[in-house]
Amino acid sequence: MVEYPNLFIGGEWVAPRDGGLLESIDPATGKPWASVAFGGPADIDRAVEAARKAFGSWSRKPGHERAALLRRFADLYEKTAPDLARLETRDNGRAFRESRADVGSHVTGYHWYASLADKFSGRTIPIDDQVHAFTTRRPIGVVGAITPWNVPLMAALWKLGPALATGCTVVLKPAEQTPVTSLELGKLFAQAGFPPGVVNIVPGWGKGGAGERLAAHPDVNKVAFTGEGATAKAILRTGGDTLKRFTFELGGKAPHIIFADANLDQALNAATGSAWALCGQSCALGSRVLVQRPIYQRVVDEFVRRSARVRVGAPLLETTHMGPQAHAEQLAKTLDYVAIGKRDGAELVAGGKRLTEGELACGYFIAPTVFANVSNQMRVAREEIFGPVAALIPFDDEDEALAIANDSHYGLTAGLWTQDVGRALRVSSRIEAGMIWVNTYRYIRWSTPYGGVKASGWGRENGVESLDAYLDTHTTIISKTGQFADPFAN
Ligand code: NAP
Repeated sequence: MVEYPNLFIGGEWVAPRDGGLLESIDPATGKPWASVAFGGPADIDRAVEAARKAFGSWSRKPGHERAALLRRFADLYEKTAPDLARLETRDNGRAFRESRADVGSHVTGYHWYASLADKFSGRTIPIDDQVHAFTTRRPIGVVGAITPWNVPLMAALWKLGPALATGCTVVLKPAEQTPVTSLELGKLFAQAGFPPGVVNIVPGWGKGGAGERLAAHPDVNKVAFTGEGATAKAILRTGGDTLKRFTFELGGKAPHIIFADANLDQALNAATGSAWALCGQSCALGSRVLVQRPIYQRVVDEFVRRSARVRVGAPLLETTHMGPQAHAEQLAKTLDYVAIGKRDGAELVAGGKRLTEGELACGYFIAPTVFANVSNQMRVAREEIFGPVAALIPFDDEDEALAIANDSHYGLTAGLWTQDVGRALRVSSRIEAGMIWVNTYRYIRWSTPYGGVKASGWGRENGVESLDAYLDTHTTIISKTGQFADPFAN
């Protein structure tokens, strides 16, 4: 067992005041592998106090000094990235080859945020020759970051980057199932020389615990949340009274549209890859695969053939493509949806079963699953399953593809495959999604804004736009004459 007995508050490693220790389960074995400190509301209170105290000098620090610290962090992070990837895989079961690629990608991101730390500025606004008007941009204050279990490091780093670049301070509460790599970040921020209290890390329960307190805390200026829509609504109810700001990165049910004129081999690589990425536990999953009728059966056959090639197994092995579901509840949820799909009349053509042979016996493994002849009204096409389940939906023409794609309360990501440039422009301009990929999929970079429309969220992470969520704009108007007419003179 690996032990993390302390929380990271005010630059120190401290025992929880009203929490305790909890075991983190390795989803590949179903057994505990780490014992981790869990904080409660009192721990959040002292973390917020530390963050508030640090905010004054951190927010006034010249941007290039914050940038230097972010670069130092990036260098340390780069050295430790392979270990972090291994820990992330232990915690959430994601195949090591995926964790390594994801965890490694954030090095560039932190150099990129460092490069922005002294580049956000206000503007002067021409009005008339009586006044000089200008705006300044100031960090919003103390940020509560609440993250999910599927991409614990990524979700934390996407928030910490813009928050720290703009001069905010942060209290991070990772998901109860996957707290380990977030705590590891605390070590790196300390080693890089970030002042005490700028970053605080308090694992703990969401509902009724650390998460709820963070959302409610009157001295937290903003909550940056990634997770489910239902939780976002609960956070709004809890935190709304304080009128703090919120950004929400929520779920998705992405349409991945393949037209008959697509480069089919490439489209299939992307469609199968994105349907089963992260063992299906990705918000950007291309889980609704919309296929034009002339190629529908070929795509179904290829999905079935390729599902048999996916090596499901011990996630730390280099050869493993897909690890287990991250926890027992998620496995049960995915299996429930398999039953629902069958009941609703979808045709199960691959997978749909828990895998329990040999070394998989105690873990939460499931075979990549394919439903054919799905209608968009079925629950497997409407609800976010968060498991490796692809729903293959046929369509006849462009209008029908768009109608199906947009008939969803989600709007996070979408993909489309066609070799017709006009169609690519027409369809992509009408898809209701925050991120649209044409002839590629899950191409996500620090410099490109990411986030949803409709029920998929508020605000954007990544891109220069991400800074906006951590800055307030202040307007100053200075009279050039100093004259102010007496309104009651006559
Ligand atoms: P979740 O159940 O909503 O939990 C997310 C976080 O919120 C956890 O830290 C959780 O703590 C905390 N929480 C729960 N209830 C709370 C409350 N009442 N007040 C404050 N905090 C609370 O989500 P999840 O199951 O971990 O993650 C899966 C979801 O995240 C999916 O819907 C997925 O699509 C979405 N996601 C979106 C993106 C994106 O960028 N759009 C990226 C990744 C994931 P506990 O640990 O105690 O539950």
